[in-house]
Amino acid sequence: MPDVYNWQIGRTMAYPFAAAPAKWQFAFVFNTNRCINCQTCTMACRSTWTFSKGQENIWWNNVETKPFGGYPQNWDSKLLALLEEYNPGGQLWDPVTGKSPEAPYGRFEGKTIFEAAAGYAGAEGPKVALGYIPTAEEWASPNIFEDHARPEARPPSAVKHMTATLPEHKVWFFYLARLCNHCTFPGCLAACPRQAIYKRPEDGVVLIDQSRCNGYQKCVEACPYKKAIFRPNTGASEKCVACYPRLEGRDPELSPNGEPCETRCMTACVGKIRMQGLVRIEEDGAWAKDPQNPIFYLVRERQVALPLYPQFGAEPNGFYIPPRWVPRPYLIQMFGPGVGHAIEQYSCPDRELLAVLQLFRTAQQIIFRFEIQPGPKIAEIEVTMPDGSSRAQAIFNDTVIGYNKFDKEAVRITIEEPTFERPAIHPNSI
Ligand code: SF4
Ligand code: SF4
Repeated sequence: MPDVYNWQIGRTMAYPFAAAPAKWQFAFVFNTNRCINCQTCTMACRSTWTFSKGQENIWWNNVETKPFGGYPQNWDSKLLALLEEYNPGGQLWDPVTGKSPEAPYGRFEGKTIFEAAAGYAGAEGPKVALGYIPTAEEWASPNIFEDHARPEARPPSAVKHMTATLPEHKVWFFYLARLCNHCTFPGCLAACPRQAIYKRPEDGVVLIDQSRCNGYQKCVEACPYKKAIFRPNTGASEKCVACYPRLEGRDPELSPNGEPCETRCMTACVGKIRMQGLVRIEEDGAWAKDPQNPIFYLVRERQVALPLYPQFGAEPNGFYIPPRWVPRPYLIQMFGPGVGHAIEQYSCPDRELLAVLQLFRTAQQIIFRFEIQPGPKIAEIEVTMPDGSSRAQAIFNDTVIGYNKFDKEAVRITIEEPTFERPAIHPNSI
């Protein structure tokens, strides 16, 4: 297998194909601290793409309650267990050695799904990526364990099928919104024997050619995030298409001049947790340095948003600001060793970061560049940091402006949100 460089694990790794970087890459940042599990994103996607016969169990976007929820059920813990079985005690990070802007989380010393498959010997023959095909039962309940909490004091075996118990401060859960990560090194694409899956060079979107797919489900098996899903009545697999007509600026309502727009699930987000964009990729596959692009800023410049299970090796392009209240070992397993830094940044954001965070869900057009105009100081507050210490945070009423692909202003918003008083002739009559 050729070697490719995966910046998220800080090293080269074996992948079935040589790197073929896209010019731009579809990417998104989700702020898990703000998700309210309203599932509006899920239904926005559902009502656009997967409402037909045969798609009953196909949810391109889902929101699951961690740690017990999952769609398909246990998708992540099952793969983690397979990798651990293959490489017992070896799935470890070295967060210090070689840490650099090209390896921001240090180096993953364990085996990726591709590397673990190299040593696989099973009755069904060799595999390109270590994985499994979920059962029909695991696909059947997208909302399983929704709002179930994890009591800290009990072992997982004791809480398998129970609800939360008091005292409440001893329990935790959080909502994890998920869709296809349009990975740089997709497991689905690597495993397809028909070469029906391809990654678009213009935006890095990963698609399944329905006319080539024979329904072997190798993509379902190899996608570490289980976001390629088989549709029984067509005999082909399907996956998120990143609402590519919107990305291409072909929505007549939103893109009068061909401006790229965010996907349906992103723009529908009630909790304002989502920001989606396109990041420019260099010829060698590295992210082009572009600190005024909000996605680049949050992921690479400030490292406040982290990839989901980077150790799987697919180099996913979905990034998460981790939830502040969840035990660190769990978060580090899920988002890698950058968790402490990300949470510290987010807990007391400086002036610039606060302004960029304000941009979430303020425009439907993709923001390619932001600019901040300084405003007056309006408050100083005490913030409790994750380690219990307190820090003073000065708040300035800065204005942040987002520009679209053609460098035209798409949004302008201040830190202090404007308030409006209902006029007396329109009293609240509820
Ligand atoms: S998340 Fe899964 S389906 Fe999507 S590109 Fe990555 S490997 Fe393929
Ligand atoms: S719409 Fe936003 S807030 Fe609501 S569940 Fe989806 S990601 Fe969470």
